[in-house]
Amino acid sequence: MVMMDVILPSELVQKIIMEYSADLDKSVVKKYLDLTEPEQVQVMYIWIDGTGQGLRCKSRTLDSEPNSAKDLPIWNYDGSSTGQAEGSNSDMFLFPRALFGDPFRRGKHKLVMCDVLKYDMQRPAESNHRLSCEKAMDKAKESVPWFAFEQEYTFIHQDGHPLGWPKMGYPGPQGRYYCGVGANKVYGRDIVEAHYRACLHAGIKIAGTNAEDMPASWEYQIGPCVGIEASDHLWVARFIMHRVAEDFGVVVSLDPKPVAGDWSGAGGHCNYSTKEMREKGGIKQIQDAIAKLSHRHMEHIRWYAPNQGKDNARRLTGRKQTSSMTEFSSGIGNRSASIRIPRHVFADGKGYLEDRRPAANCDPYLVTQAIVRTTVLEDWDP
Ligand code: ADP
Ligand code: MN
Ligand code: MN
Ligand code: MN
Repeated sequence: MVMMDVILPSELVQKIIMEYSADLDKSVVKKYLDLTEPEQVQVMYIWIDGTGQGLRCKSRTLDSEPNSAKDLPIWNYDGSSTGQAEGSNSDMFLFPRALFGDPFRRGKHKLVMCDVLKYDMQRPAESNHRLSCEKAMDKAKESVPWFAFEQEYTFIHQDGHPLGWPKMGYPGPQGRYYCGVGANKVYGRDIVEAHYRACLHAGIKIAGTNAEDMPASWEYQIGPCVGIEASDHLWVARFIMHRVAEDFGVVVSLDPKPVAGDWSGAGGHCNYSTKEMREKGGIKQIQDAIAKLSHRHMEHIRWYAPNQGKDNARRLTGRKQTSSMTEFSSGIGNRSASIRIPRHVFADGKGYLEDRRPAANCDPYLVTQAIVRTTVLEDWDP
């Protein structure tokens, strides 16, 4: 008998889903994936949902291999199930934009990052900042802006605690976990390694990885990439991370402060340079850019985390290598400042700056756009 009248609290349902997913025998599917490779191409369309943080995806079959995103058909989905439309007028449209190899299906199969447009196929969905980002990057292209993101994140176990943490209480205090090695220092390295290789297979510009201060939290770096490419690559790297962790029955959290108290938060530092900053004497341009950024601090804060920036308030406390949410600061080698000039950049007299304010769950289309608007375009009207 099926007991349909028992309503489970949603947290418990979440937990059951996670355990179920982790408990499936992962070797069974291999029998089917080993069938003769199909002639058709499977393409996974990826987009951002109404939360502005969540990723959604669905697959379709094509008869031939696309060479670029332009070769792919426009598609649609039910926006009433993603927090983006009413049920009575629910069609949203996917415009394929950035094409990658698929590390899960391998071979000629693809992943594609999409723009989401409303039913009129003209206006972007509220959570789609890719179009305005592309416009800003296009206007700023003479400056050849480069961006590199540091994506910090935390593995969450089925029990709802960070992976590897004791069921009761806390692990030992921070200070020995950052870039750590050893079973008592880092948790989840297999997932990190799987993600790193999967990103390289896909063609993502992933620059490296390291373990972070808080046990079960890690970082990978994307870039440097020119213009909008940094954001496309970061979003697809996030997709790949969620998908790899799904295979391990682990959830990836981009919460900017996953554990309250004396534990590090998770950021999305954005390293930035223009052509002039990278040339001899570029430190002058870096300092000019910092002066411009100092006048727009609160606007940037609002664009650097969900909920008008409010999500970042738990993280930007001025402690644990963070700066103040309300006051702008900068400094050479200073990790408690809004903007840091790396020591080696200062010594070389050229290079890049690091904006340390963006939260781990930032939208890179907004972060990079805010930076070029303030420092290059001097125009805040998207
Ligand atoms: P941190 O010391 O803050 O942990 P990371 O080494 O994690 O720094 O990240 C710095 C990132 O900056 C790297 O991904 C690197 O590729 C990138 N980077 C290097 N040069 C530039 C540049 N000229 N413009 C933008 N990003 C750059
Ligand atoms: Mn880093
Ligand atoms: Mn870090
Ligand atoms: Mn950093």
